[in-house]
Amino acid sequence: MQAIIWFLFMIFYLKKTVSYFGSEYTPLNLPQMIIEKNTVVGVHYELNVDGQKLDASGEQPLTYIHGHGMMIPGFEKQLAGLKTGDSYDFTVSAAEGYGEFNENAIAELDKQIFLVDGVISTEVFEGAQLQLTNQEGQPMVGVVQSIGDDKVTMDFNHQLAGKTLHFTGSIASLRAATEEEISHGHVHGPGGHQH
Ligand SMILES: [Zn+2]
Repeated sequence: MQAIIWFLFMIFYLKKTVSYFGSEYTPLNLPQMIIEKNTVVGVHYELNVDGQKLDASGEQPLTYIHGHGMMIPGFEKQLAGLKTGDSYDFTVSAAEGYGEFNENAIAELDKQIFLVDGVISTEVFEGAQLQLTNQEGQPMVGVVQSIGDDKVTMDFNHQLAGKTLHFTGSIASLRAATEEEISHGHVHGPGGHQH
């Protein structure tokens, strides 16, 4: 009889211990992962500039490794410390976005370079986005501002230079980046490189 009581007591005690551990050590009570250097972030976002929607993640969130300059500085700065499920709404100044507008990035180019068989290329018109190569052989993307008699004015500023960027969205997933991802400088797996 006494043995049974002991046994029941043991079960009760064990159950209590288990439930104690159960309530105390569920993942919910563990400190949640936050966005910091080397976190692979899955993020839903929408970008609005001057009240217009310019860009947004699709069904799948955008993924990137935090703290490696993959995103504009202001975006990474604002996301730091957030957890999975958090939503956000912030603006990023031009200085921490795509840079201030630079007058020196507007260039007057000889119309000659745009001529094909003596006539201006059909690809060159006001508002056209063209890729040119500079003296160092680097590609530069610019927008045609105006076409004069012998000059073509082009703006080589980033199209979002000087703009305040308004981001809204939420954090879809977080995990630690692997050594390999950090050395490759990109995310592997879903939303990243498949190799
Ligand atoms: Zn890789």
